[in-house]
Amino acid sequence: MKNLLEEAKKIQEELVACRRKIHQYPEIGENLPQTKKFVREKLVQMGYQPQEFGDSGLAALAGDPESGRCILLRADMDALPMREETELPFRSENGNMHACGHDMHTAMLLGAASLLKSHESELPGCVKLMFQPAEETFTGAAMMIREGILENPKVDAAVTMHGDGMSEYDTGKMTMITEGVAMASCDSYRIEIEGVGTHGAFPNQGVDPIMAGMNIYNALQEIITREIKASDVAVLTQGTFHAGTAANIIPDTAYMEGTLRTFDKEIRKYIRQRVEEITMSVAAAFRAEARCIWNGGCQPLYNDPEVFEDVSGYIRELLGQEGLVIEGEEAVPFSSEDFSNILDLVPGIQMFLVTGSMKAGADVPMHNPKIVFDESVMYIGAAVLAYVASRWLEEHCR
Ligand SMILES: [Zn+2]
Ligand SMILES: [Zn+2]
Repeated sequence: MKNLLEEAKKIQEELVACRRKIHQYPEIGENLPQTKKFVREKLVQMGYQPQEFGDSGLAALAGDPESGRCILLRADMDALPMREETELPFRSENGNMHACGHDMHTAMLLGAASLLKSHESELPGCVKLMFQPAEETFTGAAMMIREGILENPKVDAAVTMHGDGMSEYDTGKMTMITEGVAMASCDSYRIEIEGVGTHGAFPNQGVDPIMAGMNIYNALQEIITREIKASDVAVLTQGTFHAGTAANIIPDTAYMEGTLRTFDKEIRKYIRQRVEEITMSVAAAFRAEARCIWNGGCQPLYNDPEVFEDVSGYIRELLGQEGLVIEGEEAVPFSSEDFSNILDLVPGIQMFLVTGSMKAGADVPMHNPKIVFDESVMYIGAAVLAYVASRWLEEHCR
């Protein structure tokens, strides 16, 4: 399959057409009816029998599911709730936008699906193609895990690719951050405080949820400054605090929302537990009741060292030594990716394809309504995905 890059070049136009189609009707969250329908149809046309996961997750198998070895390739398909501000002829008009490039991820995995199908008889094992909703809300991977994506056949290794639209490297280069922890965990939560509303002139007749909330807010600051080692890194930010409607009313309820980021699973678990404990006990101290609701969330992303070495070798076989940049620990960002929930259970890695280079003038960041990605390198992404999967199987089957 050494000629995969040449084969992928031949389907470049098709990849672009697929990507533009998806780009034009971006859908967000867990429910992506049109995107799913499109991907499903494409897979069926190629001869796959896609399996459904939840409302909008899809998976398809290439190769032999009975072989005892399976590698998973994953693309996310969801967009962002923001109005597109580009001048592209295929720009979205529905108020959502593929500003993180998941439209390209989906099209490139479809490309890999097509390449793998034409070499299916040569695959010594099985490739599971995973098309996931709700990455941006950090719930899609967890949903597909619950629905069994890692079983039947059991997944032995997992790989995903993200575009990088504002990179210091040349367009078309592949990059990998580092083995080990390569991205932060992310959790968001909402604290709801229930008091007893009353007239502002008679506070003794009620229970003030604002007073309880203020003290919860202050007490939460104590976790990072007093309970986490100075050399460990964690951020806990309260981003909203809402209560009340008028100067002379003590309201019934108050709520605040916050986010937690860490690079360590144990620290993440510890802080989550302490947020709960502090919320409940401080609320009780002020005679109020409180609860803490966690939305989605993902682990720190862990690149398995062995798969990291294998995959970096395969990419260099395909693209040459210069085709891949390994960035190193200093490049680990405080951003997150919910593929980490898969990598928490199965060894694997995340890699990146440069789809916008600062050297070539790219100066609009990801998640910005004006971002325009370079489609011309999509065939590289499709080829890398298919090649990495087939090489991994070659080296790990039998
Ligand atoms: Zn994103
Ligand atoms: Zn993304």
